Amino acid sequence: MLNDEHIELRKSVEEFAREVVAPVIGDYYERCEFPYDVVRRMGAMGLFGLPVPEEYGGMGGDYFTLCLALEELARVDSSVAITLEAAVSLGAMPILRYGTDEQKRRWLPGMAAGEILGAFGLTEPGGGSDVPGGMRTTAVLESGEWVINGSKAFITNSGTDITAVVAVAAITGRREDGRPEISTILVPSGTPGMTVSKKYSKVGWSASDTRELSFTDCRVPEENLLGERGRGYAQFLQTLDEGRVAIAAVSVGLAQGCVDESLRYARERRAFGQEIGGYQAIQFKIADMEARAHTARLAYYHAAERMVAGLPFKKEAAIAKLVASNAAMDNARDATQVFGGYGFMNEFPVGRFYRDAKILEIGEGTSEVQRMLIARELGLPA
Ligand SMILES: Cc1cc2nc3c(=O)[nH]c(=O)nc-3n(C[C@H](O)[C@H](O)[C@H](O)COP(=O)(O)OP(=O)(O)OC[C@H]3O[C@@H](n4cnc5c(N)ncnc54)[C@H](O)[C@@H]3O)c2cc1C
Repeated sequence: MLNDEHIELRKSVEEFAREVVAPVIGDYYERCEFPYDVVRRMGAMGLFGLPVPEEYGGMGGDYFTLCLALEELARVDSSVAITLEAAVSLGAMPILRYGTDEQKRRWLPGMAAGEILGAFGLTEPGGGSDVPGGMRTTAVLESGEWVINGSKAFITNSGTDITAVVAVAAITGRREDGRPEISTILVPSGTPGMTVSKKYSKVGWSASDTRELSFTDCRVPEENLLGERGRGYAQFLQTLDEGRVAIAAVSVGLAQGCVDESLRYARERRAFGQEIGGYQAIQFKIADMEARAHTARLAYYHAAERMVAGLPFKKEAAIAKLVASNAAMDNARDATQVFGGYGFMNEFPVGRFYRDAKILEIGEGTSEVQRMLIARELGLPA
């Protein structure tokens, strides 16, 4: 299903990841520092605008192209991959899908150039899987302004120097049946009443930006509503379906990066008089790793193909995210084993892969949530 453009893009991102990202990212990771220079160069390459139409400054490609770029980046490093994933699929895509023409013109060109980042504030300290049940953030319309109160947890790209706007999901009323009415509101960075906390200290994705946000009588104009009032729930369900395909691509990249590194090391490292790659125990590990990466790639290609064709893809996205994050986790464990003690040292990429793999089974819907979605798509009761 790859056309010439896909193949060319994949090759140029592969080269970029190898030549630009790989030599420097370990140091950023160790310092838990956001890699502004790398992000700027990704922006100059057009990566942040891949699925954004040309009229809004993008490359006019499709979402599958973005996934290919994410996979190639994550083969080398997941912090930069998740920065791109969150910026595009959580930051730009909701504005592209639901925004007014004015909102699109205001935000998308800068986002597509990678000069500004958007974030998506859905999860709250009280719950991420059960979003409506855990949501406490409210937005009340007063004299032509939304007044927002509450807080959001674990928001990617929400506090960098180039973060420009956060889409905040909030309860804007009650439906007749008592369920919360949820809407999405765009809050520009620096709006009084929005406090951006310091970065979390994370197990992995250490060169990415993740923060808690709190809102105290934070006021934005009524026209900052994204899409229709009360459509927030439907908006984030669609946003997350797409995001899951992208996270599956990041997971496949990490899984393949484990194969790349293990192959190289297995030929180089010697034990008991021969290279360790000559031992069947190591060969089987690497063969299993390659099989997992390959099958997970097919799963996300299939989901992306359906998405791009406009076909239903909820089940396929959940399957891709489930199997790919599993593959990433298993491959990170096996690659670390192939490296022995050096696998436990941060100077080798597999140490980073090991720390970065776990979140893939949690973010944008845990593995349990993916199983729930698949079961529902199979007709089992909610
Ligand atoms: C680094 C990082 C970046 C993130 N970026 C963003 C972001 O940009 N924007 C955003 O909105 N969110 C973001 N998140 C939040 C992420 O999506 C949530 O952490 C995730 O959805 C899980 O929610 P939770 O942490 O509240 O866990 P919980 O929902 O509290 O779940 C805890 C455990 O219970 C399980 N569980 C819950 N319900 C059920 C059930 N019905 N059946 C079986 N098991 C169940 C879960 O699977 C999990 O194992 C990020 C998180 C991290 C760690």
